[in-house]
Amino acid sequence: MRHRGNLPPSRSRTRARSAAAAAVARVLTPAEASPHTGSVALLAPGVRRVVAPNPGPLTGPGTNTYLIGTKQVLVLDPGPALEAHTAALVETIGTARVVAIALTHTHADHSAGLEALRRYHPAPVLARLPRHTEHHVLAGLAGTTIDDGGTVSTDAGPLVAIATPGHASNHLCWLLPGLRWLYTGDHILGTTSPVILPPDGDMTEYLEALRRLARLDLERLLPGHGPSLGEPQGVIAALIRHRLERESRVLAALPATGAATLEDLLPIAYADVSPSLHGWARCTLQAHLLRLAETGQACRDGDRWARA
Ligand SMILES: [Zn+2]
Repeated sequence: MRHRGNLPPSRSRTRARSAAAAAVARVLTPAEASPHTGSVALLAPGVRRVVAPNPGPLTGPGTNTYLIGTKQVLVLDPGPALEAHTAALVETIGTARVVAIALTHTHADHSAGLEALRRYHPAPVLARLPRHTEHHVLAGLAGTTIDDGGTVSTDAGPLVAIATPGHASNHLCWLLPGLRWLYTGDHILGTTSPVILPPDGDMTEYLEALRRLARLDLERLLPGHGPSLGEPQGVIAALIRHRLERESRVLAALPATGAATLEDLLPIAYADVSPSLHGWARCTLQAHLLRLAETGQACRDGDRWARA
């Protein structure tokens, strides 16, 4: 029995409702559909994107929640725990039945809205649990799992889970084979290159997962933040190249004699990145160093790093 909770009336809810009604009325092609905060867009028959009002340097215009299906809907990434976003989702879903709520991963901007949405649509949750819980929001996820290659049915066709650890250990991309569209979460983003967050995130796993995606026959990528992307294989190849170039910079920044801390290396290896993003870049720098240690090119003594 579906429980429909009562959202308190608010101006944001009214705004979300009218935005939803106006945006769904016209069909946008993916190329036309550049997301903006709070927007609802119909990307293809049976595929809608609702952008959460959590814009920021890492989230772009906001987290993309995708609704896949028309009468039997799968919600992919319920997004952050923001009342206006839950209201926009509930309004856009309307009287459709939610068959499942799937997650790409459990960072707060993708999963923290899960419990609020499940008060309206208590559907099964499809997600994996992370190796390390730091940065993850796991409320409502006890016992949930989905296998790599696991499939869920929607009335827009089946959706297939593809394990893509790296940004987070429990990251999944979701493939809609009918359209050859891949929902990429934070594995591939429309606006920035993803942060890798050790110890849960892992650069070697990230690169392996990208190479795995490079073997798929894809038509379009639909990231967790930012616009959808054409020419998937070009995007994936550029991302692999970008990571390997950064790895070379990190290796070049390591002193041949003596040792350096992350703080010593950051301004050298990330000189091209705005200092406002150096807090997150520091995480990815550490992920690169751990990979260089794995491959025998760097060694670590406490918090100091050197060339091997
Ligand atoms: Zn994330």
